[in-house]
Amino acid sequence: MWALLLVEFGRMEVREYPDPEPGPGEVLVEVAFTGICGTDIHGFTGQNGRRVPGQVMGHETSGRVAALGDGLTGPAVGTPVTVNPVVVPAGDADQWRGREQQHPGKWVLGVRPDVVAAFAQRVVVPARNVVPLPDGMPLAHGALIEPMAVATHAVGRLALPDGPVLVAGGGPIGQSVVVALQQAGATSVLVSEPAATRREALERLGAIAIDPGAGSVAEQVRDLAGVPAVAAFDAVGNSASLAGCLTATRPGASVCLVGMATPTLDLPSFEISAQERSLVGSFAYSSVDFGLATQRLAATPASADALVSRTVPLAEAPDTFRSLAAGNDTPGKVLVAL
Ligand SMILES: [Zn+2]
Repeated sequence: MWALLLVEFGRMEVREYPDPEPGPGEVLVEVAFTGICGTDIHGFTGQNGRRVPGQVMGHETSGRVAALGDGLTGPAVGTPVTVNPVVVPAGDADQWRGREQQHPGKWVLGVRPDVVAAFAQRVVVPARNVVPLPDGMPLAHGALIEPMAVATHAVGRLALPDGPVLVAGGGPIGQSVVVALQQAGATSVLVSEPAATRREALERLGAIAIDPGAGSVAEQVRDLAGVPAVAAFDAVGNSASLAGCLTATRPGASVCLVGMATPTLDLPSFEISAQERSLVGSFAYSSVDFGLATQRLAATPASADALVSRTVPLAEAPDTFRSLAAGNDTPGKVLVAL
């Protein structure tokens, strides 16, 4: 089979690999599409220290069941599936259901360096991490379930009162948060995003886009919505984006930190203490969020289409990574067709 190897930081090549075979309790998936995540780009450059040369990445994927390992009776060969890449030890799966992302011994397909992951034509995964696609869902949409699970989990971390909600950052995760908010019933979503092409993509998704370069985000939210935001999601995760989320929300509001741009933050502390705001963290998703994201995305196919900017064949993936890392102006998700 062919797979996309990170040869060294900043360089990828399509190489031939031996076809993997499923062991007991494992499923072989014939990959159809795998999405390029921001963390893959930062892994490609070496910026986040979470990927290493010699690795085949890829954790946002869809495909069809190709073979079953010993001890399995399903899902049937040919079934369209996605893969939940967060793997907890088999013996802990029941006890940790609903909070797998907090398990200290979890590993993540596409992050763990010694596992050939989903930027490959075939991938082997534990059967308990295989999620069949709902009837009629296109395979390309199946590759969007993982980023939607990140957003679904973040949205579920806050109680959402009626009123305008602010999202800081309109890249693929910010866009997924917009869709997850709409799926959860939010009627007014504002997003601060400096890139004009991304602001256009956000407007197509039904959000109100704000340019943080055009003035205070808090003032723009009040001008456009008439009131401060009732809650906010920081899909960037730097000091400026978090300060914007805090000051744009009403007293007593909660702000969810989902972006991880910087390891430390300067906080306007009185915006938390004196205004009684809460700051809540969100990381990945549980298997329950993953299932919920699957069902909700199946019910909103137009939103799924709007999240994808383009699809490239595997042969073009090395150049695509290079251009995305160089800051090429792609507003949404790029899928690799395997
Ligand atoms: Zn991702």
